[in-house]
Amino acid sequence: MKKIQMTTPLVEMDGDEMTRVLWKDIKEILILPHVDLKTEYYDLGLPNRDATGDTVTVESALATKKYGVAVKCATITPNVQRMSEYNLHEMWKSPNGTIRRILDGTVFRAPILCDGIRPYIPSWKKPIVLARHAYGDVYSAVDGVAAEGNKVYLVTENKEGQVLSKQLVHDFNGTAGVVQGMHNCDASVRSFAHSCFTYALDAGLPVMFATKDTISKVYDGQFKKIFAEVYEEYRERMEAKGLWYLYTLIDDAVARIVRSEGGILWACKNYDGDVMSDMVATAYGSLGMMTSVLVSPDGKYEFEAAHGTVTRHYYKYLKGEETSTNSVATIFAWTGALKKRGELDGNAPLAAFAEKLERATLSAIEEGEMTGDLIPLFSREGIVPQKLSSEEFLRAVAKRL
Ligand code: NAP
Ligand code: MG
Repeated sequence: MKKIQMTTPLVEMDGDEMTRVLWKDIKEILILPHVDLKTEYYDLGLPNRDATGDTVTVESALATKKYGVAVKCATITPNVQRMSEYNLHEMWKSPNGTIRRILDGTVFRAPILCDGIRPYIPSWKKPIVLARHAYGDVYSAVDGVAAEGNKVYLVTENKEGQVLSKQLVHDFNGTAGVVQGMHNCDASVRSFAHSCFTYALDAGLPVMFATKDTISKVYDGQFKKIFAEVYEEYRERMEAKGLWYLYTLIDDAVARIVRSEGGILWACKNYDGDVMSDMVATAYGSLGMMTSVLVSPDGKYEFEAAHGTVTRHYYKYLKGEETSTNSVATIFAWTGALKKRGELDGNAPLAAFAEKLERATLSAIEEGEMTGDLIPLFSREGIVPQKLSSEEFLRAVAKRL
C-alpha cells in the first residue's frame, strides 16, 4: 500500500516518562505504517532540556510559529525532587508556560466522548470545551496584611511619577486585615478573545463568556467590552455557520452549563477557568480522555494530552512490570495535529486518515477493549470490558484501523 504523503512538516515535541514510551509506540504502531510522516523533531524530554539550557523549548515554540501546527508529548515540570532525580543544572520552567508565552496562546481543554463512558452529568452529550484566560488577575496579584489603624490606597501614577488618582481601598479602623491588588491588560484580554473565536469557528461551537461585571463594574466590565468588540470581527463568519456568542454573568453561566447538553465553548477568566476546568474534566470521567489545544490569536495550533507524564506507571514500566496506561488523549493530540496539517495543506487523505484513527480508537473502547482507568467508568449492554496493557490497546486500535 502506498503511504499517505505530507507536504509541510509537523512540529513534534517529544517528552518524558510513560508518555514518552506511549509516544514512540503510537508512532510505530499506528501512524508510520500508513503515513510517510514528516516532522521537525524537538526533544523536550527533561535530560535534553537540561543539556540545551532549555533552548530546545524556545526553538520548538518558534518552529510552531513558523509551521503553524505542533504536537506535544507531556513533559516534566521540574521541582526540588526532580532536581536530584535528573541531576539538573537548573529548575527549568514549565515548557507549557514557555511555549504559551511565545505563542501568546490560549489553552482549550476538550473531552473525548465515546459510547459506554458516561459523564457524571448525564445530559452532557457533546463536549464542553473550556478556555481559560491564563494571564493576570489573582495569579499575578500583590497582596499583604494591614495592621489595625492602617489605611490602604490604590494609587495611579503617570510615566512622570505624577499621581493621577488615589482611591481608598479600606480604612482598617478597629481591626487588622488583608489586602490585594491585581491587574489585567487590554492586549491580553483581546488576544484571548481572538483565540476563543478562532477556535470556535474552527470547531463549529457557539461561545459563552462570563464575568461578574455587576459587582466588578470597571474591571470585569472591561473584559465584557473587549469581548463584544472582538466578536464584531467574527460575527458574520459565526452567524454564517449558525453559531452565536453569549455574554452572561458567571453564576448564570454555571447554571446554563449544568443544564446544557454540551457542544459549547466556555470562555472563562483566569480563576474561573482554573476551578471550572477541573470540574468539567472530572465530570467527563478520566484524565486519559481529555485533550488540550493551545491556539494563538493568529491561528497557530499546538495539540497535546491534558494529563501529565503518568509517573507512577513509568516507575512500574522501568521495573519491567506491565502497565495499562491510557493513550487516547495522546493519540487524539496526534490526530488533531494531522487533521489540522491536512486542512491547512489541502491534504484530504491526511485529514481522512486522522479521522479514521480517531474512529478506530473509540471503536476499540466501545467494543470493550480498554485500559484499566476506563474499566470502572464503562457500561454498555452486552459488553464485558476487558483490561488491556498499554501496548495491547494500541494493537487493538491498529487492528481496527
Ligand atoms: P499525571 O501524570 O496526569 O498523573 C496523575 C494520575 O492520574 C496518574 O498517576 C494516574 O493515576 C492518572 N492518569 C493520568 N493520566 C493517565 C493516563 N493516560 N492513563 C491512566 N491513568 C492516568 O499527573 P502528575 O502525577 O501530577 O504529574 C506527573 C508529571 O507530569 C509531573 O512531573 C508534572 O510536572 C507533569 N505534568 C505535565 C503536564 C504537561 O506536560 N502538560 C501536565 C500535568 C503534569 P493512577 O496512578 O491512580 O493510575
Ligand atoms: Mg485547577
